[in-house]
Amino acid sequence: MKVIVIGAGVIGVTTAWSLANDGHQVTILEEQSEVAAVSSNANGGQLSYDFASPMASPELLTKIPKLLFNSDSAFRIKHPISREFLSWSQHFIRQCFPGNYRLSSSKLKELAKKSGQVLEEIIATSNTQFGHRRAGKLVIYTKTSAFERTKRLLGKSSTNGQVILDQQACLEKEPTLRQCGTPVVGGVLAAVDAVGDAALFSQSLAADAQQRFNTTLSLNTQVQRLDIHDNKIQAVHTNKSEFKNPDMVVFCTGENTNLLQNCGVPLRIYPVRGYSKTFTPGTQVPEVAITDHDKKLVYSRIGDKVRVAGFADFGHFSKEHDEQRLDMLTNQAKAMFPKIADYQASSSSWSGNRPATPDNLPVVGPTSIKNLYLNMGHGMFGWTLAAITAQQLVEQVQKHA
Ligand SMILES: Cc1cc2nc3c(=O)[nH]c(=O)nc-3n(C[C@H](O)[C@H](O)[C@H](O)COP(=O)(O)OP(=O)(O)OC[C@H]3O[C@@H](n4cnc5c(N)ncnc54)[C@H](O)[C@@H]3O)c2cc1C
Repeated sequence: MKVIVIGAGVIGVTTAWSLANDGHQVTILEEQSEVAAVSSNANGGQLSYDFASPMASPELLTKIPKLLFNSDSAFRIKHPISREFLSWSQHFIRQCFPGNYRLSSSKLKELAKKSGQVLEEIIATSNTQFGHRRAGKLVIYTKTSAFERTKRLLGKSSTNGQVILDQQACLEKEPTLRQCGTPVVGGVLAAVDAVGDAALFSQSLAADAQQRFNTTLSLNTQVQRLDIHDNKIQAVHTNKSEFKNPDMVVFCTGENTNLLQNCGVPLRIYPVRGYSKTFTPGTQVPEVAITDHDKKLVYSRIGDKVRVAGFADFGHFSKEHDEQRLDMLTNQAKAMFPKIADYQASSSSWSGNRPATPDNLPVVGPTSIKNLYLNMGHGMFGWTLAAITAQQLVEQVQKHA
């Protein structure tokens, strides 16, 4: 089939590659001048196969009064609250209730677990270089109350491959934690988790699709309008040209839902802003990927760099705000991990949005328009879920074709 994939982030490229690998003739349309220039650009790099859980959780519910007054450094809400955010957050809050959380959490975990296997298959078949390391991930706790709550939730021993480590076991597993400004009281280890550079992966997978399957990648190409007749997309109009009679169009436009709203396909996706800094490594870089549960920051060694990422901001803030948040992220990293990076050397800064649904579950599959498919709304775990959702999309196409 003649397929158009709109968006060359990690989701669009992985989807395009998987469709091409299944025998389709694929064209990728991307408005930016390079692949993975938006949300997939400098994310935390963590492939959280064993550690994916929705942002909307009972724990977050208890923090909502604090969040409204912006007194938790990991989260910021722009005031006055917009109508768009109010509408999304009503659904998000509903997802925080224990029953809904359990359901979305188990679906997300199942997806994440499968994604690891599918990514390994893609790596084995394609020619990709992206600093991939099966590093394992350690979630560290500095507050006893939070660690005890997690232990109660997980049970006394290993659950689903997650292993609870007390303070001593954490230090034995990762001796560089001795540098921590606030002592670690315990942790949870997921040995199967990995790290890798999502942007490099997307770029090398796009190149592989071009070489191996003759996939067309059209950069600087913005999709502006769709012609829909007889409940079918007849043409895709871009700033450069038009693509007539596509057999199928797959939207992988991340946070951008405008065109979909215009053609009556409503999607509840909100951009949740986050930040990252990429540093030259310091003298004590952990081997495992780290998530600081209490500060909501992640630390990963990716290739020859160290990346720190995190925070979740809701609403459209100014550029100055980004600078403040990036400084705050650096200061918190320095205080917790003074030796993880060479903070004096030059570093690069990034901010980007997580395209988040209220339940943090992606929307994958057909729509009410015959040849229009979606693969969007991966929120905090787009890198982790890229492989499995691309495979799911291919399966859906096989089923409906
Ligand atoms: C700070 C931060 C840290 C993160 N850390 C992790 C992590 O450690 N692990 C993890 O799994 N996930 C992480 N994520 C989440 C992950 O980065 C995202 O879920 C993922 O990148 C979303 O990918 P995407 O392809 O859907 O969106 P994007 O990468 O934004 O791709 C969408 C593309 O569509 C294009 N587009 C949109 N509209 C049009 C149009 N009309 N015409 C043509 N092109 C169009 C855009 O230009 C863009 O390139 C993090 C996110 C942030 C912000």
